[in-house]
Amino acid sequence: MSAQIIDGKGIAARIRTEVKTAVDARIKQGLRAPGLAVVLIGENPASRVYVRNKRKACDEVGFVSRSYDLPADTTQQQLLELIDTLNEDDAIDGILVQLPLPTHFQEELVIERIHPDKDVDGFHPYNIGRLAQRMPLLQPCTPKGVMTLLESTGEDLHGKHAVIVGASNIVGRPMTLELLLGGATTTTCHRFTKNLSHHVSQGDIVVAAVGKPGIVQGQWIKEGAIVIDVGINRQADGTLTGDVDFAAAAEKASWITPVPGGVGPMTVATLLQNTLYAANELH
Ligand code: NAP
Repeated sequence: MSAQIIDGKGIAARIRTEVKTAVDARIKQGLRAPGLAVVLIGENPASRVYVRNKRKACDEVGFVSRSYDLPADTTQQQLLELIDTLNEDDAIDGILVQLPLPTHFQEELVIERIHPDKDVDGFHPYNIGRLAQRMPLLQPCTPKGVMTLLESTGEDLHGKHAVIVGASNIVGRPMTLELLLGGATTTTCHRFTKNLSHHVSQGDIVVAAVGKPGIVQGQWIKEGAIVIDVGINRQADGTLTGDVDFAAAAEKASWITPVPGGVGPMTVATLLQNTLYAANELH
């Protein structure tokens, strides 16, 4: 079998157009544009790139984008005060604090300070709890974006065995909750999982989210499986690669995402969807 490619770049472009159309319609009705505040602390180069992409995407769909670029020695109290101000600001529907934060911050305190109705990253325990209890409100962007990619294949997820490799708070764990909500039977693998190849070979759906190139080998993939590669790893020559051995996996999978051009663009597109949702439904 030679897999069909899931075109995340194209699907994300379609979502951005849909969001822009919805923003235009809001403004025609005399409503304000949705507002997103993006907070970046310090000089992490990867974070700078992600934040730049998010702000550009906001501008393109007609959101009000507020930028807060703060120095690495910003105190936690200063950040919490900024979040309090943004929580009270009626022009702001979403607050995004780019992670990881410098080590002197307690990330969980910062995340919990954002009002759940403005938590467009979907990381607040309230929003994770809503997802766990089958009443999602604002859902973490990357896993939700993966669900959109899975939907695009037209495959019925009910009863499929989904194997998630990676169990972080921002990708692997909420990914498991999304797939469970979508009717799949789930297995979540993490650093203590024994015999990873055995688990992966059982997957009708495999989602790799570890951050180690080639950790999912192509020969492990079940014939006809759907393979989603969330991993983004920069190689010595500057190019990006995922966590899955793409060429060998594509020989066995029915559908597969490329890196780049798969999950990556979906994260930003889903952030726009979440911010629009917050503006339309929550504020
Ligand atoms: P992370 O916080 O470092 O988490 C990695 C996860 O992988 C952890 O749960 C860890 O297990 C697990 N793990 C480590 N070694 C393993 C092994 N040998 N076998 C199985 N699991 C193992 O990373 P993350 O933030 O989730 O990101 C994962 C990857 O996705 C990275 O490459 C990142 O750049 C990428 N990413 C992409 C997007 C996108 O938009 N496409 C968004 C976010 C992240 P423990 O929990 O036991 O430590």
